[in-house]
Amino acid sequence: MSLRLEDRVTELPGVGPKLAARLDDAFEIRTVGDLLEHYPRRHQDAGEVLDLSQVAEGEPATMIGEILEWSRRRTSGKGRRRSLDIAEAKVRQASGAVFTATFFNQNWRANQLPPGTVVAFSGKVKRFRQQLQLPSPDVQRLGQISGGLDVGSAAERLQHQRLLAVYPAVDGLPSFKLAELVEAAFEELAPLDDWLPEDLLDRHDLVDLDTAVRGIHLPEDLQTRDAARRRLVFDELYVLQLGLQWRRARMEADTVGAVNAPVDGGHADGFLDALPFPPTDAQTRAFEGIGQDLARARPMHRLLQGDVGSGKTIVAVWSMLNAVDHGRQAALMAPTEILADQHHRTLTHLLAPLGVNVLDGLRIELLTSSSTTAHRRRVLGELLAGDVDIVVGTHALLEEGVRFADLGVVVIDEQHRFGVSQRVQLKEKATSSGASSDRSVLPDVLVMTATPIPRSLALTLYGDLDVTVLDELPPGREPITTQLITPAQAHRRDALYDFIRKETGEGRGAYLVCPFVEPSDVLPGTAAVEEHARLSEEVFPDLQVELVHGRMSADAKDAAMARFRAGEAQVLVSTTVIEVGVDVPHATIMVIEDAERFGISQLHQLRGRVGRGGGRSFCVLFAGWKGELTDDARDRLDAVAETTDGFVLAEADLRIRGAGQLFGQKQSGLPDLKLADLTQDLEVVATTRDLAKRVIEVDPDLADAEHASLRSEVLARHEGGLDAFRALETG
Ligand code: ADP
Ligand code: MG
Repeated sequence: MSLRLEDRVTELPGVGPKLAARLDDAFEIRTVGDLLEHYPRRHQDAGEVLDLSQVAEGEPATMIGEILEWSRRRTSGKGRRRSLDIAEAKVRQASGAVFTATFFNQNWRANQLPPGTVVAFSGKVKRFRQQLQLPSPDVQRLGQISGGLDVGSAAERLQHQRLLAVYPAVDGLPSFKLAELVEAAFEELAPLDDWLPEDLLDRHDLVDLDTAVRGIHLPEDLQTRDAARRRLVFDELYVLQLGLQWRRARMEADTVGAVNAPVDGGHADGFLDALPFPPTDAQTRAFEGIGQDLARARPMHRLLQGDVGSGKTIVAVWSMLNAVDHGRQAALMAPTEILADQHHRTLTHLLAPLGVNVLDGLRIELLTSSSTTAHRRRVLGELLAGDVDIVVGTHALLEEGVRFADLGVVVIDEQHRFGVSQRVQLKEKATSSGASSDRSVLPDVLVMTATPIPRSLALTLYGDLDVTVLDELPPGREPITTQLITPAQAHRRDALYDFIRKETGEGRGAYLVCPFVEPSDVLPGTAAVEEHARLSEEVFPDLQVELVHGRMSADAKDAAMARFRAGEAQVLVSTTVIEVGVDVPHATIMVIEDAERFGISQLHQLRGRVGRGGGRSFCVLFAGWKGELTDDARDRLDAVAETTDGFVLAEADLRIRGAGQLFGQKQSGLPDLKLADLTQDLEVVATTRDLAKRVIEVDPDLADAEHASLRSEVLARHEGGLDAFRALETG
């Protein structure tokens, strides 16, 4: 009873340097704690421990006995059947009955389980040549007869353990070996201290930690296993949320937020009055939620999530105008120049009724890395002087030298392209006008994303943000018809080109998206440059076909976009630079080449470029023409073709790809989720998030004595501890 979780696995009986190295290589298992976090993939019902006389054919059963001898034979291969190595063990049970355990192509079993070994074999009993056999059973080695073990008491001990843990295993480190190590660990391990207080366990109907850890490995029944899992999932998510809320508290430490409460009769009000349409109910709810945040002397950190076309821009503009109504400035950051440019254009247009860049009107400026030096110098001066009300830009806004007189509201479009560090960089942009205290005044931050994220994932990925969802599209949108075209329907390509010619003849526009800029030997796929040449010369010599990709100069891109926007060009060939936000209402056709190369959310974003003008729209996915159309890709494309509901697609994406991929890449330093499944454990995500928020609210640094165990758990679990947070913050 002396073993501790921090101890190296070499403390376990039978673990030498070689096995330790194997455990480390295969699963990064170094300590006993790591071993116990190597959770079973599933549990196999081993059936009751039975004597041969009780066994029913075809039923799962566990039979315990002593290995008497091994015999081997080899079947001869015939035709397409390959030859098999068969190893058979004669096993004697406590009653004296003898049965045969049979293994195929596992001759090493004879060395693993020499005569004299007491073994539990689990599997389904079959009859073969009048004899009862256990073919390919699961194996649990119990000990040696020479070590004083007798079969009867071993059977007794296992009587209650019907569920056998099946562990993720690799060559040379099979599941039963891991099971043995886990059992050995439990034998030496003192009961685990719980890091959660008892009243919390009671309130949430959770079992204690020791019960949970033992129960996930060696459950007596499925209920025990499920209760254990629930407790451990709770722990994973609670630690995650505590870390996220802690990070948020640190970001807000020593800061106050500017009060940007909506005022009657201000620009924000005037803007809504001047809109040609009433806001949707979802937009109205967003105004309310954001308005409350703006009114608080606590900086807003809110995520505005809304499918493409749900009208986020209007919410963004309204939010920014509230800063202006308080004599402050606002900034809108976009991930690309095309988008910054377009936002600037949209804002200028939307705010025209209030007067833009005229005497007494709003001052709006654009600042990107392709701004001229003179323009940049002027805008920087005016930002610092407080003459500019709203600035729209790219990352350039984060550069050294950009200083505001009084930044009140920041809107960040398309969060998934910005890291936490950038949000924090912005914090430093806010030069406190008062300058009377050492607390900096933080701007209110609204992060917009058009990537619909399942709620569980949003609460996790953006655990440090409050979430508003625009779950309603403005009226009058017509559905987008989506079709998948594979090479088997090659004739449909020509039909599509005819259709494009007809539609563009009636004043509509078509996007053709390619995965690559230039052709490559390594990755087969359509290159935008070549496709542009082909389409403009061979297919549509009578039309104006433009090209936009990321390697063009900003000026050339702008010019091409402008011609397409104005309808001077009917077809736009591009890479995914047009993926997010580009808004050309008369564009009604979206063609995507090599669609199998794109993920669900990317396809959904691309498709969102059409159907914005209220007319009927079409999306055509060419798939399998240059690359292989795998089953997974087929599932993705079918999902996209089936629905235009971004949230449904996001759920599908989460299912097909798993949370790990969506989750892992973005947010380094976050703890792994080993058991928690964000598609299934939504309720626990929400519960733990609320709990974590409450704890951090009263004890922002988890410094109280009563939170000592929470604190150490969070520090231990978030890789690199708080330093990871710090690294994120300093970017
Ligand atoms: P998002 O940025 O969420 O994809 P936008 O803000 O670009 O969506 O809005 C898409 C289109 O819908 C724009 O042309 C916008 O003017 C229009 N729109 C926004 N809100 C409404 C509304 N309440 N009623 C009608 N049209 C709206
Ligand atoms: Mg948008």
